[in-house]
Amino acid sequence: MKLPTLLALPLTRYNVSEGHMACPLCQATEYRPLAAIDRRLKRLDQGVCTTCGLVRHVPLPSEAALEQYYASDYRADYHLVFRAPSESKRHKRLAVAKPRLDRIAAFLPAGGRVLDFGCGSGEFIETCNAAGFSAAGFEPGEDYAHYAREERKLEVQTGRWQDVSFEGLFSGITSFHVFEHLVDPCAALERMLTWLEPDGVIYLETPNALRGIERKGFASLHFAHTLGFTRYSMEALGAKVGLTPVAVMDDANIGMIFQRGAARPMEQIFADARAEWAGWTQGKVHAQFPKYLVNKAFGRL
Ligand SMILES: [Zn+2]
Repeated sequence: MKLPTLLALPLTRYNVSEGHMACPLCQATEYRPLAAIDRRLKRLDQGVCTTCGLVRHVPLPSEAALEQYYASDYRADYHLVFRAPSESKRHKRLAVAKPRLDRIAAFLPAGGRVLDFGCGSGEFIETCNAAGFSAAGFEPGEDYAHYAREERKLEVQTGRWQDVSFEGLFSGITSFHVFEHLVDPCAALERMLTWLEPDGVIYLETPNALRGIERKGFASLHFAHTLGFTRYSMEALGAKVGLTPVAVMDDANIGMIFQRGAARPMEQIFADARAEWAGWTQGKVHAQFPKYLVNKAFGRL
């Protein structure tokens, strides 16, 4: 049996050895177990922080271990092969980009400069440019960045947030479905702030961990999502670096537009974040997936 096939087997653990126990948002080590298995039926311990409500792998892989995983097993685990997006896929991605731009555009000056943090194949950048903004991006995935730069002629760097740099500051910085893949979200957001004009805005969007679990239980969890944000843990992330929300989108995804400014007291935000997870034990999360399947089979979803 080939090694990648073996790695994809159910009930085996992911091949990541090194990790740490502290929550990357509040540094507490206590957590409540939420699931011991993920949507591919592989063993994966995930918990919710009993201080700040952030969901995380336990232990959380170190940056080095995660990078090693992405460099080796990620494609095999997720059967990922880069292909230039088809026209229909591109149109779907452009259709998703449009309402995202509509939400942030009200906070941007006409013609303002926008940075997309983790821009994939660049459809949000294209959408911004078409609306008269001047957008750039960066993307750690070499294939995606190359496609955006060479095929779409967009201003896109290949690189990780730790390594890229830009001339001048941006009026708006966006990051869609990136922060759930990180292990140090505070450092990433702090770095983002160094690229932002004093009155600029930051728009973060991730899957909504609570809505996912309410719907599908452990089947909403998977290895590539090292962190799980909700309405209040995302607010807490912003507050940690001096940001306050000016717009909130709370549905299957959690989206928040932030500006620099006085946040609510951290204890208050943490209490709201803990309350979101009231009643969610590992037993309940594990039982939710069969319930989801039954509801789906009987057309109740
Ligand atoms: Zn925490």
